[in-house]
Amino acid sequence: MNTKTLLSVGGPAGGRLLETEPARAEFVVSAERKAEIRFYDAALKPVAPTSQAVTITAEPTSGRVKLEVVRTEFGFATKDALPAGEPYRVVVQVRATPEAKPQNFRLDLNLGHCAGCARAEYACTCESH
Ligand SMILES: [Zn+2]
Repeated sequence: MNTKTLLSVGGPAGGRLLETEPARAEFVVSAERKAEIRFYDAALKPVAPTSQAVTITAEPTSGRVKLEVVRTEFGFATKDALPAGEPYRVVVQVRATPEAKPQNFRLDLNLGHCAGCARAEYACTCESH
């Protein structure tokens, strides 16, 4: 499985940038614990989704849950809050079009605060981890 995350640059909304093509995408967890995928152009300016399709699967120890996603102004968001029990793995699949080959991203969902970069642990940009 193709798994890529961009560690060196933090997402503009405080999340983790995913190395998607052609548009950049950011995984971010909202204050309501909803997972959001936001799209950006090459200059990291927010762009509305076009033909992309996104799936988000949470994998807590209680069992994996495929979350329903809804379209938002600049991407997608889960309809419901992420399940409790983090840290756990979250798998994000982004397709440029519904028929395209998916780009897969595995994230460790840790909502703790990193003292080093003042970001959430799942979006930490410190080089030491
Ligand atoms: Zn950090």
